[in-house]
Amino acid sequence: MHIGIITHHDCLLHDMGAHHPERPQRLSAIEDQLIASGLNVMVWHYDAPLATREQLERVHDPDYVQQIFDVAPQEGALALDPDTLMNPHTLTAALRAAGAAVKGVDLVMSGEVHCVFCNVRPPGHHAEHAQAMGFCFFNNVAVGAAHALAAHGLERVAIVDFDVHHGNGTEDIFRNEPRVLFCSTFQHPFYPYSGADTSSDHIVNVPLPAGTHGKQLHKAVEKYWLPALHAFKPQLIMVSAGFDAHTEDPLAELAFSEQDYYWITGKIKLVADEYAHGRVVSMLEGGYELHALGRSAVSHIDALLGW
Ligand SMILES: [Zn+2]
Repeated sequence: MHIGIITHHDCLLHDMGAHHPERPQRLSAIEDQLIASGLNVMVWHYDAPLATREQLERVHDPDYVQQIFDVAPQEGALALDPDTLMNPHTLTAALRAAGAAVKGVDLVMSGEVHCVFCNVRPPGHHAEHAQAMGFCFFNNVAVGAAHALAAHGLERVAIVDFDVHHGNGTEDIFRNEPRVLFCSTFQHPFYPYSGADTSSDHIVNVPLPAGTHGKQLHKAVEKYWLPALHAFKPQLIMVSAGFDAHTEDPLAELAFSEQDYYWITGKIKLVADEYAHGRVVSMLEGGYELHALGRSAVSHIDALLGW
């Protein structure tokens, strides 16, 4: 049993400034912890390809995609919002991050590996159909899910999102797409202040108050996510794997631990084993305390391996 890990050196070159929490060292922290854990021997490594315009335009407005290409700076930095900046390497990194999702889907659909973790940045789940925001440019997990529907003919893809922030972009993109079930937990009220009032039979949002700890997360997942996932019977599960709900994370106020990430990933894997031939493609989203991020991501990978 192996897991595929997809990354690319280009993802380290996107840099939004020395004090920005979404920094290149996040990827190295995960890689270092993976080596320290000994799990690295179970990993097959893959390079992330560049996403194509066709793959991006399945989920993004073509004019928006063109705009991102047009404004990408040749030198210096360009702020799309106060938190979301492009340097000369950002466009390539964003294309690699979205391309990793496509490659991950192709890998699990071919059966080469059952599970994939994409150790890529920039993250994606705040990027809407026609709007960059919250450190995100292209919605990586959405690009992957749309690829599974369009290129592999799947009819039911579940996206689960345990990042501390609501995946407003993913919801925006798949609001009218019943072939995608979107299950999300997030701190509320909190950035981006969306999701709490959503009413949809294929969007399962679970807002959690500041201070929520792991035991309460387990109850919420058992009460809301798991019945929806079992009813939906996904043929593929994609994960927006943000680790910023960790108790040590500086950006938010939930109190999860790496053991909670192991637990929730195990539950996701069981559903995948039952309905989806074990197919899981996980995309890194948030997680800003480097030590906690490394430990949490490796716990997640450990559970995907089924150890
Ligand atoms: Zn987040």
